[in-house]
Amino acid sequence: MAIVSDILIVDDDPVNVQIIANALVKTNCVRIATSGLKGVEVAQEIIPDLILLDIGLPDISGYEVCKLLKSYSITRHIPIVFITSLDTDLDELHGLELGAIDYIRKPFSPALIRARVNNQLLLKHKTDQLAKLAKLDSLTALPNRRHFEEELNKVWSVAQRKSREIAIALLDIDFFKQYNDHYGHTAGDRCLQLVAKTIKHSLHRPMDFVARYGGEEFVIILPDSTVNETILVAEKVRENIQNLSIRHEHPDIQSHLTVSIGVASTTPIQHTVNRQFLEEADKNLYQAKRMGRNRLYCA
Ligand code: GH3
Ligand code: MG
Ligand code: MG
Repeated sequence: MAIVSDILIVDDDPVNVQIIANALVKTNCVRIATSGLKGVEVAQEIIPDLILLDIGLPDISGYEVCKLLKSYSITRHIPIVFITSLDTDLDELHGLELGAIDYIRKPFSPALIRARVNNQLLLKHKTDQLAKLAKLDSLTALPNRRHFEEELNKVWSVAQRKSREIAIALLDIDFFKQYNDHYGHTAGDRCLQLVAKTIKHSLHRPMDFVARYGGEEFVIILPDSTVNETILVAEKVRENIQNLSIRHEHPDIQSHLTVSIGVASTTPIQHTVNRQFLEEADKNLYQAKRMGRNRLYCA
């Protein structure tokens, strides 16, 4: 199935816009902006897959537009192709040095534009897929630790700005080494997948987030949650995992696989994530283990 891409054309000449749009509209969704600042605004709003950018615009130059887009984190990764009547090598060099991925000189052939744009879109699609994979844990299909760190940074700064609470719960499967030793590594893997799915299905708000933190550890972020609300959610997760009734014959536990959970909650004051927040969740998890496992602990 062909992928429909969003393309933004920033050009003030209606004839050019018409020709470029006609060349691309068959397989893409095309948006048009006729000034530099409007182009920046639309780009921030729709995050297109590619921008075709004229340089001689009525307000700010295409070079300025490119600089602006490269300075914002949400638009930085959008590929920009200059399409312009500035036709010296120096102009082109300047455009490419500003971060544009290609530079097309006018007059242009519609077929050539289509071919070049398609190449760039293909590359963009592959890059997006790789970026997605880099954030995913391949065994459980949950976000991985890298993604967790990114998400925590985001959620933390929102909570800090709005003076809201934020909580995390750190989960660790009990006696999982013995599980692997007794039932084998493949069964252990299946178990991790099941636990991951159960945690995911135990969370109900769209902003709640779960990631695989490490081997048999998972972490949940609950933005905008009080300690009591977090304890209720974490307790539900613990119960749902116990209710999976995965057999785990170990003398210290009640014959089923269980998890221990450490909870930490804070209202962020500093701009960047305070690592003590994570350490507290870890300490509380350790305490839950010491107190006999299959429980949650919140200091
Ligand atoms: P505790 O209750 O104190 O947490 O004991 P534990 O045995 O769960 O903890 P420990 O850290 O000693 O062992 C964790 C085990 O998790 C060891 C490792 O074999 C297993 N494990 C980690 N990652 C994976 C994985 O991807 N697949 C499988 N099958 N096992 C894993
Ligand atoms: Mg562990
Ligand atoms: Mg463990």
